[in-house]
Amino acid sequence: MPAHPTLSDPHPPLATTKPDTLWRTVFEQSRLGIVLIDPATDRILDLNQRFADLAGRPRESLRGQDWMHLTHPEDLAHEVAHKTQLREGRLSCFLRDKRYVHPDGTVLWVHVNETRVTVAEGEPPCFLAMVEDITEQRQTRLDLHTEREASVRRKQDRALRQTQDLLHMAEQAAGAGAWDWDLHTDQLNWSPAMFRLFGLDPQCDPAKFDTWRTLVHPDDLSAAELALEESIRDRRPFVASYRIVQASGEVRWIDAYGQVSHDANGVPVHFSGLCIDATLRHHTESQIRQLNAELESKVEARTAELAQANAALHRLARHDVLTGLPNRLAANERLREELLRMKRSKLPYAVLMIDVDHFKRVNDQHGHAVGDQVLQRVSQCLRGPLRESDFVSRFGGEEFLILLPHTDEAGACLVAEKLRQAVESAPDPTAGLVTISVGLAMAAPTQDDQDAPVQMADARLYAAKQGGRNRVVHRVPAHG
Ligand code: GH3
Ligand code: MG
Ligand code: MG
Repeated sequence: MPAHPTLSDPHPPLATTKPDTLWRTVFEQSRLGIVLIDPATDRILDLNQRFADLAGRPRESLRGQDWMHLTHPEDLAHEVAHKTQLREGRLSCFLRDKRYVHPDGTVLWVHVNETRVTVAEGEPPCFLAMVEDITEQRQTRLDLHTEREASVRRKQDRALRQTQDLLHMAEQAAGAGAWDWDLHTDQLNWSPAMFRLFGLDPQCDPAKFDTWRTLVHPDDLSAAELALEESIRDRRPFVASYRIVQASGEVRWIDAYGQVSHDANGVPVHFSGLCIDATLRHHTESQIRQLNAELESKVEARTAELAQANAALHRLARHDVLTGLPNRLAANERLREELLRMKRSKLPYAVLMIDVDHFKRVNDQHGHAVGDQVLQRVSQCLRGPLRESDFVSRFGGEEFLILLPHTDEAGACLVAEKLRQAVESAPDPTAGLVTISVGLAMAAPTQDDQDAPVQMADARLYAAKQGGRNRVVHRVPAHG
Protein backbone atom coordinates (compact mmCIF):
# COMPACT_ATOMS: atom_id res chain seq x y z
CA MET A 1 0.00 0.00 0.00
CA PRO A 2 1.62 3.37 -0.92
CA ALA A 3 2.18 5.98 1.76
CA HIS A 4 -0.78 8.15 0.88
CA PRO A 5 -2.37 10.20 3.63
CA THR A 6 -5.80 9.05 4.78
CA LEU A 7 -8.38 11.22 6.57
CA SER A 8 -8.83 8.61 9.29
CA ASP A 9 -5.10 8.41 9.84
CA PRO A 10 -4.20 9.40 13.54
CA HIS A 11 -1.56 11.76 12.15
CA PRO A 12 -2.73 12.93 8.81
CA PRO A 13 -1.15 16.11 7.52
CA LEU A 14 -4.60 17.57 6.77
CA ALA A 15 -5.90 17.01 10.33
CA THR A 16 -3.17 18.90 12.14
CA THR A 17 -4.49 22.39 11.57
CA LYS A 18 -7.72 24.18 12.24
CA PRO A 19 -8.83 24.41 8.63
CA ASP A 20 -8.41 20.70 8.58
CA THR A 21 -11.04 20.40 11.29
CA LEU A 22 -13.32 22.46 9.12
CA TRP A 23 -12.50 20.32 6.10
CA ARG A 24 -13.23 17.18 8.09
CA THR A 25 -16.61 18.53 9.15
CA VAL A 26 -17.44 19.33 5.55
CA PHE A 27 -16.06 15.95 4.52
CA GLU A 28 -18.17 14.04 7.00
CA GLN A 29 -21.37 16.00 6.68
CA SER A 30 -21.36 16.63 2.96
CA ARG A 31 -24.42 15.63 0.98
CA LEU A 32 -21.94 14.64 -1.69
CA GLY A 33 -20.11 11.33 -1.52
CA ILE A 34 -16.41 12.14 -1.33
CA VAL A 35 -13.70 9.65 -2.02
CA LEU A 36 -9.94 9.76 -2.47
CA ILE A 37 -8.46 7.22 -4.84
CA ASP A 38 -4.96 6.04 -5.45
CA PRO A 39 -4.45 6.61 -9.19
CA ALA A 40 -1.91 3.81 -9.45
CA THR A 41 -4.14 1.08 -8.04
CA ASP A 42 -7.64 2.58 -8.22
CA ARG A 43 -7.96 1.67 -4.58
CA ILE A 44 -9.97 3.82 -2.17
CA LEU A 45 -7.74 5.76 0.17
CA ASP A 46 -10.50 7.46 2.09
CA LEU A 47 -14.24 8.03 1.85
CA ASN A 48 -17.03 9.75 3.71
CA GLN A 49 -20.18 8.06 5.01
CA ARG A 50 -22.25 9.53 2.18
CA PHE A 51 -20.07 7.77 -0.40
CA ALA A 52 -20.44 4.50 1.50
CA ASP A 53 -24.23 4.99 1.41
CA LEU A 54 -24.13 5.71 -2.32
CA ALA A 55 -21.99 2.61 -2.90
CA GLY A 56 -24.45 0.57 -0.82
CA ARG A 57 -21.69 -0.92 1.31
CA PRO A 58 -20.30 -0.44 4.87
CA ARG A 59 -17.77 2.37 4.97
CA GLU A 60 -14.98 0.28 6.44
CA SER A 61 -15.39 -2.48 3.88
CA LEU A 62 -14.69 -0.01 1.12
CA ARG A 63 -11.43 1.38 2.37
CA GLY A 64 -8.57 -0.11 0.38
CA GLN A 65 -11.02 -1.61 -2.15
CA ASP A 66 -10.78 -1.17 -5.95
CA TRP A 67 -13.47 1.42 -6.46
CA MET A 68 -13.99 0.47 -10.09
CA HIS A 69 -15.84 -2.70 -9.12
CA LEU A 70 -18.67 -0.51 -7.77
CA THR A 71 -19.41 0.72 -11.29
CA HIS A 72 -22.04 -0.93 -13.47
CA PRO A 73 -20.28 -3.22 -15.98
CA GLU A 74 -21.86 -1.38 -18.93
CA ASP A 75 -20.33 1.94 -17.81
CA LEU A 76 -16.84 0.59 -17.22
CA ALA A 77 -15.37 0.94 -20.70
CA HIS A 78 -16.17 4.66 -20.82
CA GLU A 79 -14.77 5.01 -17.27
CA VAL A 80 -11.47 3.29 -18.05
CA ALA A 81 -10.78 5.39 -21.16
CA HIS A 82 -11.17 8.68 -19.32
CA LYS A 83 -9.43 7.45 -16.25
CA THR A 84 -6.29 6.86 -18.32
CA GLN A 85 -6.42 10.42 -19.65
CA LEU A 86 -6.86 11.75 -16.12
CA ARG A 87 -3.98 9.61 -14.89
CA GLU A 88 -1.69 10.79 -17.66
CA GLY A 89 -2.53 14.40 -16.90
CA ARG A 90 -4.28 14.94 -20.27
CA LEU A 91 -7.49 15.63 -18.35
CA SER A 92 -7.56 17.52 -15.06
CA CYS A 93 -11.14 16.82 -14.33
CA PHE A 94 -13.56 14.13 -15.46
CA LEU A 95 -17.32 14.51 -15.16
CA ARG A 96 -19.72 11.73 -15.99
CA ASP A 97 -22.98 10.07 -15.13
CA LYS A 98 -22.74 6.39 -14.35
CA ARG A 99 -24.36 3.65 -12.38
CA TYR A 100 -23.35 1.92 -9.14
CA VAL A 101 -24.60 -1.57 -8.48
CA HIS A 102 -25.30 -2.44 -4.86
CA PRO A 103 -24.72 -5.97 -3.61
CA ASP A 104 -28.50 -6.48 -3.50
CA GLY A 105 -28.68 -5.58 -7.22
CA THR A 106 -30.05 -2.06 -6.68
CA VAL A 107 -28.83 0.28 -9.39
CA LEU A 108 -28.10 3.88 -8.49
CA TRP A 109 -27.39 6.67 -10.95
CA VAL A 110 -24.63 9.02 -9.80
CA HIS A 111 -22.90 12.06 -11.18
CA VAL A 112 -19.17 11.86 -10.54
CA ASN A 113 -16.80 14.82 -10.61
CA GLU A 114 -13.32 13.37 -10.43
CA THR A 115 -10.31 15.65 -10.10
CA ARG A 116 -6.63 15.04 -10.03
CA VAL A 117 -5.34 16.61 -6.79
CA THR A 118 -2.04 16.87 -4.98
CA VAL A 119 -2.80 16.49 -1.30
CA ALA A 120 0.69 17.17 0.06
CA GLU A 121 3.81 18.49 -1.54
CA GLY A 122 6.15 15.77 -2.74
CA GLU A 123 3.42 13.22 -2.68
CA PRO A 124 2.15 11.71 -5.91
CA PRO A 125 -1.20 13.12 -6.95
CA CYS A 126 -4.37 11.30 -6.12
CA PHE A 127 -7.95 11.43 -7.48
CA LEU A 128 -10.66 13.23 -5.54
CA ALA A 129 -14.14 12.19 -6.60
CA MET A 130 -17.33 13.98 -5.60
CA VAL A 131 -20.30 11.73 -6.12
CA GLU A 132 -23.89 12.91 -6.26
CA ASP A 133 -27.02 10.76 -6.36
CA ILE A 134 -28.92 11.67 -9.49
CA THR A 135 -31.22 8.65 -9.59
CA GLU A 136 -34.25 10.74 -8.81
CA GLN A 137 -33.31 13.49 -11.29
CA ARG A 138 -32.72 10.90 -13.97
CA GLN A 139 -35.98 9.19 -13.19
CA THR A 140 -37.77 12.54 -13.39
CA ARG A 141 -35.98 13.26 -16.65
CA LEU A 142 -36.81 9.79 -17.91
CA ASP A 143 -40.43 10.19 -16.85
CA LEU A 144 -40.56 13.54 -18.57
CA HIS A 145 -39.00 12.07 -21.66
CA THR A 146 -41.35 9.12 -21.57
CA GLU A 147 -44.29 11.44 -21.04
CA ARG A 148 -43.13 13.65 -23.91
CA GLU A 149 -42.64 10.63 -26.14
CA ALA A 150 -46.07 9.33 -25.19
CA SER A 151 -47.58 12.72 -25.95
CA VAL A 152 -45.82 12.87 -29.32
CA ARG A 153 -46.96 9.33 -30.04
CA ARG A 154 -50.53 10.23 -29.08
CA LYS A 155 -50.39 13.22 -31.44
CA GLN A 156 -48.94 11.06 -34.20
CA ASP A 157 -51.58 8.42 -33.61
CA ARG A 158 -54.28 11.08 -33.76
CA ALA A 159 -52.84 12.50 -37.02
CA LEU A 160 -52.51 8.99 -38.45
CA ARG A 161 -56.10 8.19 -37.50
CA GLN A 162 -57.27 11.43 -39.11
CA THR A 163 -55.28 10.64 -42.26
CA GLN A 164 -56.70 7.14 -42.31
CA ASP A 165 -60.21 8.51 -41.83
CA LEU A 166 -59.66 11.00 -44.65
CA LEU A 167 -58.21 8.27 -46.85
CA HIS A 168 -61.16 6.07 -46.03
CA MET A 169 -63.57 8.88 -46.92
CA ALA A 170 -61.64 9.58 -50.14
CA GLU A 171 -61.67 5.86 -50.94
CA GLN A 172 -65.41 5.71 -50.41
CA ALA A 173 -66.15 8.92 -52.30
CA ALA A 174 -64.00 8.01 -55.28
CA GLY A 175 -64.61 4.25 -55.20
CA ALA A 176 -60.85 4.09 -54.74
CA GLY A 177 -58.45 1.67 -53.10
CA ALA A 178 -54.98 2.56 -51.83
CA TRP A 179 -51.90 0.43 -52.40
CA ASP A 180 -48.31 0.55 -51.29
CA TRP A 181 -45.55 -1.59 -52.75
CA ASP A 182 -42.21 -1.99 -50.94
CA LEU A 183 -39.75 -2.40 -53.79
CA HIS A 184 -37.09 -3.96 -51.52
CA THR A 185 -39.20 -6.65 -49.93
CA ASP A 186 -41.74 -6.88 -52.77
CA GLN A 187 -44.36 -6.61 -50.02
CA LEU A 188 -47.63 -5.17 -51.29
CA ASN A 189 -50.10 -3.53 -48.90
CA TRP A 190 -53.69 -3.00 -49.95
CA SER A 191 -56.37 -1.03 -48.16
CA PRO A 192 -59.67 -2.85 -47.47
CA ALA A 193 -61.27 -0.85 -50.28
CA MET A 194 -58.61 -2.15 -52.65
CA PHE A 195 -59.59 -5.75 -51.83
CA ARG A 196 -63.25 -4.88 -52.39
CA LEU A 197 -62.43 -3.23 -55.73
CA PHE A 198 -60.66 -6.34 -56.95
CA GLY A 199 -63.34 -8.65 -55.56
CA LEU A 200 -60.93 -10.22 -53.06
CA ASP A 201 -61.17 -11.26 -49.42
CA PRO A 202 -58.46 -9.66 -47.22
CA GLN A 203 -58.63 -12.72 -44.92
CA CYS A 204 -57.87 -15.30 -47.62
CA ASP A 205 -56.31 -13.56 -50.61
CA PRO A 206 -52.72 -12.40 -50.30
CA ALA A 207 -51.96 -8.89 -51.51
CA LYS A 208 -49.24 -9.90 -53.92
CA PHE A 209 -48.06 -8.55 -57.22
CA ASP A 210 -48.97 -11.89 -58.80
CA THR A 211 -52.51 -11.60 -57.40
CA TRP A 212 -52.82 -8.29 -59.23
CA ARG A 213 -51.33 -9.77 -62.43
CA THR A 214 -53.78 -12.65 -62.53
CA LEU A 215 -56.73 -10.26 -62.20
CA VAL A 216 -55.73 -7.75 -64.88
CA HIS A 217 -57.40 -8.42 -68.23
CA PRO A 218 -54.86 -10.23 -70.48
CA ASP A 219 -55.32 -7.61 -73.22
CA ASP A 220 -54.39 -4.79 -70.81
CA LEU A 221 -51.67 -6.45 -68.71
CA SER A 222 -48.56 -5.67 -70.80
CA ALA A 223 -49.50 -1.99 -71.20
CA ALA A 224 -50.14 -1.66 -67.45
CA GLU A 225 -46.85 -3.37 -66.57
CA LEU A 226 -44.98 -1.22 -69.07
CA ALA A 227 -46.48 1.91 -67.49
CA LEU A 228 -45.27 0.68 -64.06
CA GLU A 229 -41.74 0.01 -65.36
CA GLU A 230 -41.54 3.35 -67.13
CA SER A 231 -42.78 5.18 -64.06
CA ILE A 232 -40.02 3.63 -61.92
CA ARG A 233 -37.36 4.11 -64.61
CA ASP A 234 -38.24 7.64 -65.68
CA ARG A 235 -39.40 8.84 -62.22
CA ARG A 236 -42.72 9.90 -63.67
CA PRO A 237 -46.13 9.59 -62.06
CA PHE A 238 -47.75 6.29 -62.91
CA VAL A 239 -51.05 6.62 -64.77
CA ALA A 240 -52.78 3.62 -66.31
CA SER A 241 -56.23 2.48 -67.24
CA TYR A 242 -56.96 -1.21 -67.43
CA ARG A 243 -59.67 -3.80 -66.94
CA ILE A 244 -59.73 -6.44 -64.24
CA VAL A 245 -61.70 -9.65 -64.34
CA GLN A 246 -62.97 -10.55 -60.88
CA ALA A 247 -63.32 -14.18 -59.84
CA SER A 248 -67.07 -13.80 -60.39
CA GLY A 249 -66.34 -12.97 -64.03
CA GLU A 250 -67.37 -9.34 -63.57
CA VAL A 251 -65.21 -6.97 -65.57
CA ARG A 252 -64.35 -3.63 -64.01
CA TRP A 253 -62.40 -0.68 -65.37
CA ILE A 254 -59.64 0.64 -63.13
CA ASP A 255 -57.91 4.02 -63.33
CA ALA A 256 -54.61 3.66 -61.50
CA TYR A 257 -52.36 6.46 -60.29
CA GLY A 258 -49.06 6.08 -58.43
CA GLN A 259 -45.80 7.68 -57.48
CA VAL A 260 -42.41 6.18 -56.67
CA SER A 261 -40.50 7.48 -53.68
CA HIS A 262 -36.71 7.26 -53.49
CA ASP A 263 -34.22 7.01 -50.64
CA ALA A 264 -31.42 9.54 -50.03
CA ASN A 265 -29.29 7.78 -52.68
CA GLY A 266 -32.03 8.06 -55.29
CA VAL A 267 -32.84 4.37 -55.16
CA PRO A 268 -36.56 3.68 -55.64
CA VAL A 269 -37.92 2.23 -52.41
CA HIS A 270 -41.69 2.63 -52.39
CA PHE A 271 -44.40 2.72 -54.96
CA SER A 272 -47.75 3.86 -53.67
CA GLY A 273 -50.94 5.02 -55.26
CA LEU A 274 -54.66 4.70 -55.80
CA CYS A 275 -56.91 2.52 -57.91
CA ILE A 276 -60.24 4.11 -58.83
CA ASP A 277 -63.27 2.25 -60.09
CA ALA A 278 -63.85 3.78 -63.53
CA THR A 279 -66.38 1.19 -64.73
CA LEU A 280 -69.33 3.56 -64.65
CA ARG A 281 -67.38 6.26 -66.46
CA HIS A 282 -66.30 3.77 -69.14
CA HIS A 283 -69.84 2.53 -69.60
CA THR A 284 -71.13 6.09 -69.81
CA GLU A 285 -68.38 7.01 -72.26
CA SER A 286 -69.07 3.99 -74.44
CA GLN A 287 -72.80 4.82 -74.37
CA ILE A 288 -71.98 8.39 -75.35
CA ARG A 289 -69.69 7.11 -78.13
CA GLN A 290 -72.47 4.82 -79.37
CA LEU A 291 -75.02 7.64 -79.21
CA ASN A 292 -72.60 9.91 -81.04
CA ALA A 293 -72.05 7.29 -83.74
CA GLU A 294 -75.82 6.84 -84.10
CA LEU A 295 -76.30 10.58 -84.20
CA GLU A 296 -73.55 10.95 -86.78
CA SER A 297 -75.05 8.31 -89.05
CA LYS A 298 -78.46 9.95 -88.64
CA VAL A 299 -76.96 13.33 -89.50
CA GLU A 300 -75.18 11.76 -92.49
CA ALA A 301 -78.44 10.18 -93.70
CA ARG A 302 -80.32 13.45 -93.21
CA THR A 303 -77.55 15.37 -94.97
CA ALA A 304 -77.74 12.95 -97.91
CA GLU A 305 -81.54 13.30 -97.98
CA LEU A 306 -81.18 17.04 -97.84
CA ALA A 307 -78.60 17.01 -100.65
CA GLN A 308 -80.97 14.88 -102.72
CA ALA A 309 -83.88 17.20 -101.94
CA ASN A 310 -81.70 20.18 -102.82
CA ALA A 311 -80.66 18.57 -106.08
CA ALA A 312 -84.31 17.79 -106.85
CA LEU A 313 -85.27 21.35 -105.94
CA HIS A 314 -82.45 22.68 -108.06
CA ARG A 315 -83.64 20.54 -110.96
CA LEU A 316 -87.28 21.48 -110.40
CA ALA A 317 -86.42 25.16 -110.28
CA ARG A 318 -84.64 24.87 -113.58
CA HIS A 319 -86.93 22.60 -115.57
CA ASP A 320 -90.29 22.95 -117.18
CA VAL A 321 -92.82 20.44 -115.96
CA LEU A 322 -94.78 20.19 -119.19
CA THR A 323 -91.94 19.48 -121.64
CA GLY A 324 -89.20 18.39 -119.26
CA LEU A 325 -86.90 20.95 -120.90
CA PRO A 326 -84.70 23.44 -118.98
CA ASN A 327 -86.69 26.61 -118.23
CA ARG A 328 -85.85 30.29 -118.53
CA LEU A 329 -83.80 30.38 -115.28
CA ALA A 330 -81.64 27.51 -116.55
CA ALA A 331 -81.41 29.20 -119.96
CA ASN A 332 -80.12 32.43 -118.42
CA GLU A 333 -77.50 30.49 -116.42
CA ARG A 334 -76.45 28.61 -119.54
CA LEU A 335 -76.24 31.85 -121.51
CA ARG A 336 -73.81 33.15 -118.89
CA GLU A 337 -71.69 29.99 -119.04
CA GLU A 338 -71.61 30.04 -122.85
CA LEU A 339 -70.53 33.65 -122.91
CA LEU A 340 -67.61 32.88 -120.53
CA ARG A 341 -66.69 29.74 -122.47
CA MET A 342 -66.69 31.71 -125.72
CA LYS A 343 -64.44 34.32 -124.08
CA ARG A 344 -61.93 31.62 -123.31
CA SER A 345 -62.18 29.58 -126.50
CA LYS A 346 -62.87 32.47 -128.88
CA LEU A 347 -65.32 30.19 -130.66
CA PRO A 348 -68.74 31.72 -131.40
CA TYR A 349 -72.13 30.20 -130.55
CA ALA A 350 -75.51 30.62 -132.13
CA VAL A 351 -78.78 31.64 -130.43
CA LEU A 352 -82.10 30.53 -131.91
CA MET A 353 -85.36 32.09 -130.70
CA ILE A 354 -88.29 29.91 -131.75
CA ASP A 355 -92.02 30.65 -131.51
CA VAL A 356 -94.90 28.39 -132.43
CA ASP A 357 -97.00 30.01 -135.17
CA HIS A 358 -100.59 30.87 -134.42
CA PHE A 359 -100.54 28.82 -131.31
CA LYS A 360 -103.43 30.75 -129.83
CA ARG A 361 -105.60 29.22 -132.49
CA VAL A 362 -104.67 25.71 -131.37
CA ASN A 363 -105.82 26.53 -127.88
CA ASP A 364 -108.87 28.26 -129.13
CA GLN A 365 -109.93 25.56 -131.57
CA HIS A 366 -108.87 22.40 -129.71
CA GLY A 367 -108.58 23.38 -126.11
CA HIS A 368 -105.69 23.93 -123.71
CA ALA A 369 -104.89 20.22 -123.34
CA VAL A 370 -104.27 19.85 -127.06
CA GLY A 371 -102.20 23.02 -126.88
CA ASP A 372 -100.07 21.37 -124.18
CA GLN A 373 -99.78 18.25 -126.31
CA VAL A 374 -98.58 20.36 -129.25
CA LEU A 375 -95.97 22.03 -127.05
CA GLN A 376 -94.68 18.62 -125.96
CA ARG A 377 -94.53 17.41 -129.54
CA VAL A 378 -92.69 20.55 -130.68
CA SER A 379 -90.16 20.18 -127.86
CA GLN A 380 -89.45 16.59 -128.96
CA CYS A 381 -89.04 17.73 -132.55
CA LEU A 382 -86.58 20.39 -131.43
CA ARG A 383 -84.58 17.94 -129.32
CA GLY A 384 -84.26 15.33 -132.04
CA PRO A 385 -81.83 16.86 -134.60
CA LEU A 386 -79.49 18.47 -132.02
CA ARG A 387 -76.10 17.40 -130.62
CA GLU A 388 -75.64 16.41 -127.04
CA SER A 389 -73.73 19.62 -126.37
CA ASP A 390 -76.53 21.83 -127.77
CA PHE A 391 -79.01 23.37 -125.35
CA VAL A 392 -82.80 23.51 -125.79
CA SER A 393 -85.01 25.36 -123.32
CA ARG A 394 -88.62 26.47 -123.01
CA PHE A 395 -88.08 30.20 -122.70
CA GLY A 396 -91.72 31.27 -122.37
CA GLY A 397 -95.28 30.07 -123.19
CA GLU A 398 -94.75 28.73 -126.76
CA GLU A 399 -91.25 30.12 -127.14
CA PHE A 400 -88.05 28.08 -127.16
CA LEU A 401 -84.44 29.24 -126.89
CA ILE A 402 -81.69 27.10 -128.36
CA LEU A 403 -77.92 27.53 -127.95
CA LEU A 404 -75.53 25.93 -130.41
CA PRO A 405 -71.98 26.13 -128.96
CA HIS A 406 -68.92 26.18 -131.23
CA THR A 407 -71.11 26.75 -134.25
CA ASP A 408 -70.67 29.29 -137.07
CA GLU A 409 -73.49 31.11 -138.77
CA ALA A 410 -73.72 28.76 -141.77
CA GLY A 411 -73.88 25.71 -139.53
CA ALA A 412 -76.46 27.37 -137.33
CA CYS A 413 -78.66 28.22 -140.35
CA LEU A 414 -78.61 24.60 -141.40
CA VAL A 415 -79.60 23.44 -137.92
CA ALA A 416 -82.38 26.05 -137.70
CA GLU A 417 -83.80 24.97 -140.99
CA LYS A 418 -83.63 21.33 -139.91
CA LEU A 419 -85.64 22.19 -136.82
CA ARG A 420 -88.24 24.11 -138.75
CA GLN A 421 -88.69 21.16 -141.09
CA ALA A 422 -88.80 18.68 -138.20
CA VAL A 423 -91.77 20.54 -136.65
CA GLU A 424 -93.54 21.04 -139.92
CA SER A 425 -93.19 17.41 -140.87
CA ALA A 426 -94.70 16.19 -137.56
CA PRO A 427 -98.34 17.37 -137.56
CA ASP A 428 -100.33 16.92 -134.38
CA PRO A 429 -102.96 14.18 -134.68
CA THR A 430 -105.61 16.61 -133.43
CA ALA A 431 -104.38 20.04 -134.30
CA GLY A 432 -102.84 19.08 -137.60
CA LEU A 433 -99.99 21.13 -139.13
CA VAL A 434 -97.80 22.99 -136.64
CA THR A 435 -95.08 25.39 -137.74
CA ILE A 436 -92.47 27.51 -136.05
CA SER A 437 -90.70 30.74 -136.83
CA VAL A 438 -86.99 31.00 -135.98
CA GLY A 439 -84.80 34.05 -135.34
CA LEU A 440 -81.08 33.33 -135.43
CA ALA A 441 -78.24 35.46 -134.07
CA MET A 442 -74.53 34.79 -133.59
CA ALA A 443 -72.72 35.63 -130.37
CA ALA A 444 -69.27 37.10 -131.13
CA PRO A 445 -66.26 36.76 -128.76
CA THR A 446 -66.07 40.55 -128.60
CA GLN A 447 -69.48 40.74 -126.92
CA ASP A 448 -69.79 41.13 -123.14
CA ASP A 449 -73.56 41.09 -122.78
CA GLN A 450 -75.15 37.66 -122.69
CA ASP A 451 -78.56 39.14 -123.56
CA ALA A 452 -77.39 40.93 -126.70
CA PRO A 453 -77.53 37.91 -129.04
CA VAL A 454 -80.86 36.88 -127.46
CA GLN A 455 -82.38 40.26 -128.19
CA MET A 456 -81.01 40.10 -131.71
CA ALA A 457 -82.47 36.61 -132.24
CA ASP A 458 -85.78 37.88 -130.84
CA ALA A 459 -85.77 40.74 -133.29
CA ARG A 460 -85.15 38.31 -136.16
CA LEU A 461 -87.95 36.07 -134.87
CA TYR A 462 -90.21 39.08 -135.09
CA ALA A 463 -88.97 39.56 -138.63
CA ALA A 464 -89.75 35.92 -139.41
CA LYS A 465 -93.28 36.44 -138.14
CA GLN A 466 -93.56 39.57 -140.20
CA GLY A 467 -92.17 37.73 -143.19
CA GLY A 468 -95.02 35.21 -143.13
CA ARG A 469 -94.04 32.71 -140.38
CA ASN A 470 -92.73 29.13 -140.79
CA ARG A 471 -89.27 30.38 -141.65
CA VAL A 472 -85.76 31.05 -140.38
CA VAL A 473 -84.41 34.59 -140.31
CA HIS A 474 -80.71 35.10 -139.64
CA ARG A 475 -80.26 38.55 -141.03
CA VAL A 476 -82.74 41.35 -140.76
CA PRO A 477 -83.54 42.23 -144.35
CA ALA A 478 -82.48 45.75 -145.28
CA HIS A 479 -85.43 48.12 -145.58
CA GLY A 480 -86.34 49.26 -149.04
P1 GH3 B 1 -97.92 34.18 -133.39
O1 GH3 B 1 -97.88 33.30 -134.61
O2 GH3 B 1 -97.86 35.60 -133.72
O3 GH3 B 1 -96.94 33.75 -132.38
O4 GH3 B 1 -99.33 33.97 -132.78
P2 GH3 B 1 -99.67 33.17 -131.49
O5 GH3 B 1 -101.08 32.87 -131.44
O6 GH3 B 1 -98.79 31.96 -131.38
O7 GH3 B 1 -99.21 34.14 -130.41
P3 GH3 B 1 -99.91 34.65 -129.10
O8 GH3 B 1 -98.82 35.31 -128.30
O9 GH3 B 1 -101.03 35.53 -129.51
O10 GH3 B 1 -100.47 33.43 -128.42
C1 GH3 B 1 -99.70 32.57 -127.59
C2 GH3 B 1 -100.58 31.69 -126.83
O11 GH3 B 1 -99.92 30.61 -126.26
C3 GH3 B 1 -101.28 32.41 -125.75
C4 GH3 B 1 -101.24 31.49 -124.59
O12 GH3 B 1 -102.51 31.22 -124.04
C5 GH3 B 1 -100.71 30.22 -125.17
N1 GH3 B 1 -99.95 29.50 -124.21
C6 GH3 B 1 -98.85 29.95 -123.54
N2 GH3 B 1 -98.39 28.96 -122.72
C7 GH3 B 1 -99.17 27.88 -122.88
C8 GH3 B 1 -99.19 26.55 -122.34
O13 GH3 B 1 -98.39 26.17 -121.51
N3 GH3 B 1 -100.16 25.74 -122.76
C9 GH3 B 1 -101.09 26.08 -123.65
N4 GH3 B 1 -102.00 25.22 -124.02
N5 GH3 B 1 -101.13 27.32 -124.16
C10 GH3 B 1 -100.17 28.20 -123.81
MG1 MG C 1 -95.39 33.89 -128.70
MG1 MG D 1 -96.83 32.18 -131.40
